[in-house]
Amino acid sequence: MRVNITLACTECGERNYITKKNKRNNPERLEMKKYCSREKKQTLHRETK
Ligand SMILES: [Zn+2]
Repeated sequence: MRVNITLACTECGERNYITKKNKRNNPERLEMKKYCSREKKQTLHRETK
């Protein structure tokens, strides 16, 4: 049950990462600290459609 998801920066909205997740293990929206290439710093990225 692995699905493709996009991780978008919560500060500028840039979609920086494409990854996969297991919907059964992570039914809620993923959030993780990632490097934003637009802002050149670590920001919180959230799963988006
Ligand atoms: Zn950003």
